Amino acid sequence: MRRISIFGATGSVGANGVDLIRRAGGADAYDVVALTGGRNIARLATMARELRADIAVTAHDDLLDDLRDALSGSGVEAASGAVALRDAAARPADWILSAIVGAAGLVPGLTALAQGGVLALANKESLVCAGPLIHAAAARGGATVLPVDSEHSAIFQALGGDNLASVRDVTITASGGAFRDWPLERLAAATVAEASTHPNWAMGQRITIDSASMFNKAMEVIEAKEFFGLRPDQIKVLVHPESIIHAMVGHLDGGTIAHLGAPDMRHAIGYALNWPDRAPLPVAPLDLARIGSLTFREPDEARWPALRLAREVMAAGGMAGAVFNAAKEQALDDFIAGRIRFTQMAPQVETTLTRLSGQPGFANEPADLETVLAWDAAARQETAA
Ligand code: NAD
Ligand code: MG
Repeated sequence: MRRISIFGATGSVGANGVDLIRRAGGADAYDVVALTGGRNIARLATMARELRADIAVTAHDDLLDDLRDALSGSGVEAASGAVALRDAAARPADWILSAIVGAAGLVPGLTALAQGGVLALANKESLVCAGPLIHAAAARGGATVLPVDSEHSAIFQALGGDNLASVRDVTITASGGAFRDWPLERLAAATVAEASTHPNWAMGQRITIDSASMFNKAMEVIEAKEFFGLRPDQIKVLVHPESIIHAMVGHLDGGTIAHLGAPDMRHAIGYALNWPDRAPLPVAPLDLARIGSLTFREPDEARWPALRLAREVMAAGGMAGAVFNAAKEQALDDFIAGRIRFTQMAPQVETTLTRLSGQPGFANEPADLETVLAWDAAARQETAA
């Protein structure tokens, strides 16, 4: 039986992964090694019992007793904290879903790569802040990294093993998020609740707000560069309100291959689970006649300054990705806590990038985890409102 682990199992992507495992036969079809979560102990324990996991880990030490209680009599081991998360990632598994949100997903991901197998990567933050480390760890461990972000899964599928040499450009689409059609002058007053709704996708709160600000798309542009080794000028963003085309690969011969599908993360997660094969998934087939038309617009950088910042980050290289991601996470914390306005997030991130770009070592490619974590901490401190 294939051994699998899910990091961030209680979140939006993680729960979709658990759903696919359950539908495929659950504990009778897979040997579930580790499931991890945060504060939702009841959900984590229910999943771990149902899938007969070897171990369940909460990120929070103060919840260890609650987790032990919730798992009592089940035979599932309980653990907590960052070290336990890392140790769980070191347990041998053939397929690991990396679905923790934020830079917190980096250490478990790197640890998992050391033992080979497949890392199905939803945690885009780890590629943005430490792309070279991810590739090096995968090469050392003989591991395969598969994209789970829908746009990157779409690129991967559209490439179909094609050599990048024939690729002219790659287009990732963006729904435009909650404020796509808002008058610009209203954005400064946007509330957390308003930013936490998405027209097409059901996702965690942080990525939903990042969709409204397009920080998510900015992260994905950098993720595409890091994942596929594309040049920054080859990566384009197109606003596509229907979210049916997820990405397109344009070739030098004028042909363009697009990937289409309903906006349902179970496609991308399931594709990574079944790769290199394809198997039936509980994803609604496309009904284009019902959808009627697909529309597109150029992204407006006045509305979404994060897209310009992504280009600047790619041009700067070095530690810019780690600084950008951490500054973005801090600005998002500050917005959610009501300390800054929606429209202050991008200027805060830009200021941090400008300030830290003058520090020694900024231009160096990430050499090790400690260096990345040090820049991450410095960027959060610099950004905090
Ligand atoms: P979420 O907030 O719904 O879930 C996050 C998970 O991570 C939860 O299990 C939570 O308990 C855990 N977690 C949070 N902070 C943690 C910490 N400090 N240490 C350990 N665990 C922690 O998030 P999500 O929307 O499922 O997104 C997860 C990842 O997938 C993100 O990197 C996101 O960008 C990416 N992604 C999500 C979607 C989507 O549809 N939700 C699509 C594409 C990519
Ligand atoms: Mg995406």
